[in-house]
Amino acid sequence: MEEFDYDLFVIGAGSGGVRAARVAASLGVRVAIAEERYFGGTCVNVGCVPKKLFSYAAHYHDDLEDSRGFGWDFDNLHFDWSKLKANKDKEIARLNGVYKAILDNNRVTVFEARAKIHSAHEILVDGKRIRAKHILIAVGGWPWIPKFPGHEHAISSNEIFALEQLPESMVVIGGGYIAVEFASIFSRLGVDTTLVYRGDLLLRGFDDDIRAFISAEIGRSLSLKLNSDIAEISEQAGKLTVRLSNGEQLQCGVVLSATGRRPMTSDLGLENVAVETAKSGAIVVNEDFQTAEPSIYAIGDVIDRVALTPVALAEGQIVAKALFSWEKQTMNYQNIATAVFCHPNLGTVGLTEAEAHSQGFDIDVYTATVRQLKHTLSGRDEMSMIKLIVDKLSDKVIGLHLVAPDAGELVQGFAVAMNSGATKADFDNTIGIHPTLAEEFVTMRTKRKTQV
Ligand code: NDP
Repeated sequence: MEEFDYDLFVIGAGSGGVRAARVAASLGVRVAIAEERYFGGTCVNVGCVPKKLFSYAAHYHDDLEDSRGFGWDFDNLHFDWSKLKANKDKEIARLNGVYKAILDNNRVTVFEARAKIHSAHEILVDGKRIRAKHILIAVGGWPWIPKFPGHEHAISSNEIFALEQLPESMVVIGGGYIAVEFASIFSRLGVDTTLVYRGDLLLRGFDDDIRAFISAEIGRSLSLKLNSDIAEISEQAGKLTVRLSNGEQLQCGVVLSATGRRPMTSDLGLENVAVETAKSGAIVVNEDFQTAEPSIYAIGDVIDRVALTPVALAEGQIVAKALFSWEKQTMNYQNIATAVFCHPNLGTVGLTEAEAHSQGFDIDVYTATVRQLKHTLSGRDEMSMIKLIVDKLSDKVIGLHLVAPDAGELVQGFAVAMNSGATKADFDNTIGIHPTLAEEFVTMRTKRKTQV
């Protein structure tokens, strides 16, 4: 009898887990995966994909408004939330099938059940004890809601996708990715939206100029309450009252708490092995994603390094190849481009100005605030902002930030350039495409004083 049933047992069929399972199976080893909820994890079911579908719906609002300045006219426009939700559900069900098919086609054994670690090489699943040479934990994260009085009346980003009816009004708590994205989306879908954030500028961790700019832009399209905390939520006859710590009261139909996510490590059986967790609950791993229990690895949101789908995919692939091939790779967390799909979008890659200073770079900073050509006729008063941070010593562009429509689409290409070591001179020697917003990146000549 073989010592192990599988060479790799993956817990969690989200983006990272499925990638690791598929790559390992393609290398000819025996792989199993357990998933108790839905195939594709947060990203496919209650994250990136359905959010982006909702975001497209929200953009039609602005596009239709803008089109009037270009001669279009229309009556009786009507937005049907049930139709959007039904079409979204259909697409997500299709994607669940695609993920399952990836596993089946690669001959990965799938357990649609909860798995629990029993020992360094054993997993309990479906009432069976399974032996695996290696175990990979890829269980992701889960929304976290602070325990203020009445917190049970708030929903998280998990439930927002399942709303049967669009409320007339909504209060969104938080100032991170999820809060600004959903506040932007629902305000465009006709919901009277208030965004409540405890800090003085949205999106902590992003470049400060960009934070100031996006906070101002968002504040023009919805009610934004900065430096505000939630004291209590109460419910009466289906209506919610949100009391802020300054005493102000807001009435609404739905409260969305977008106050962060936590690694989903409870009830995994970690107490049965030597795996260590940090205070945040994140599983502690080394450079090779190995935990303190040598046969057990962890990747993705559960290690709480960079909670982005493409990062989990890369980490999963690195682990599978390192374990079952000669290909060893170290994860490079530098220059990971990211986008926030608020209105307007925000795209960023590389260092913020504050990070550049704290890492000891002597820098030049270039900024520009522009009004898109489109808005000369649309009449929309939305502005765009771009910012470049350049290392004086090497002339390399080490930070690039953009608030503009489709910023995510624009920034990806610049991430390739920056990963290839592009200098400011390379940017300047590149001919622009006229008339676009992107051409601003290759025509930035005036340095701004840096803020230390
Ligand atoms: P974030 O960590 O980005 O933001 C959480 C927000 O909640 C912060 O503004 C934080 O404030 C606030 N907050 C935390 N605790 C409290 C509290 N007790 N009371 C009031 N406010 C509080 O988390 P998200 O949930 O928005 O997103 C989780 C992760 O998912 C992101 O970090 C990102 O990695 C990923 N994601 C990526 C997306 C994309 O790529 N487009 C989209 C959505 C999510 P403060 O800043 O003051 O701490």
